[in-house]
Amino acid sequence: MKVKQSIPKKLRYTMRDFNKQFPNDAACLEHLKEQRFPGGMAKCEKCGVERKHHHVTGRPAYACDYCGTMISPMAGTIFEKSSTPLKTWYYAMYLMSSTRCGISAKQIQRETGVTYKTAWRIFRQIRSLLSEEDLCLEGPTVEVDETYFGGVRKFGRGRPMRGDKKKTPIVAIVQRGGKVVAKVVPDVSGQTLTGLIKKHVIPGGLVYTDEMGAYRRVGFLRGSDGKPLDYRHRTIRHASGVYVHHDIHTNSVEGFWSLIKRGIGGVYHSVSPKYLQTYLNEYTFRYNRRFEGNLQFKSVLERACRAVA
Ligand SMILES: [Zn+2]
Repeated sequence: MKVKQSIPKKLRYTMRDFNKQFPNDAACLEHLKEQRFPGGMAKCEKCGVERKHHHVTGRPAYACDYCGTMISPMAGTIFEKSSTPLKTWYYAMYLMSSTRCGISAKQIQRETGVTYKTAWRIFRQIRSLLSEEDLCLEGPTVEVDETYFGGVRKFGRGRPMRGDKKKTPIVAIVQRGGKVVAKVVPDVSGQTLTGLIKKHVIPGGLVYTDEMGAYRRVGFLRGSDGKPLDYRHRTIRHASGVYVHHDIHTNSVEGFWSLIKRGIGGVYHSVSPKYLQTYLNEYTFRYNRRFEGNLQFKSVLERACRAVA
């Protein structure tokens, strides 16, 4: 599946655009302040009411016009307590949202001069914002597939052998021509797989899977209210080499796997299972916004400027 599309001119956001909008730390701080406290208005703890705040010269802080109590736009966000310049954070977000196959900590280390450890932490923090936990795929047609990451046969299509504990199962649900949900799962049991389908696929959807027994009940699932979800279930026989039979194929999900494989295999080399979900989040986030051009960077920025739980 072709993922790269030519982006309309008005949706392009180049490095030049980035440097123009965010020439220095001050511009990033001002942007962050405007997202969190529009017009400098924020509740002052001491006054107990909304007050206008002004920038404190030489500090990443704003002070209440009335009593001088200071607030930081960074408080509660991923930037809090970071000694890395805000522009480096913004640049990392720009790079992450403007490359198709992901970006390595090494690259940001080279380009900005932060240590590898810092670069790695920055990316981990940004990825933590990109989860699409509650995404509902509104169909009408989705493909569900599972694959395995790690172990000896990296991204081999085979199911793991007995005792092969190293492989981490991943499930992807791809809406044809639309969005994707990808999850690291503890196992590929019927309960796990159908649980994901129930959570992310709209009732009545047409669901393509392979022939694995775990999908057997897809057509008979019921919602939490006991009502039938009316999924129409079609299977495709991978084992017999029948990949495309009229409309019965899983090309969309295969396209997503190959993107992940190229990306994680090529850019990140080895990813510990512990962080695999955050990498999947990054790829999913980009995939789901692949037609959005510069809005992708805006989406990341928007999430970064919110307080984290
Ligand atoms: Zn005040």
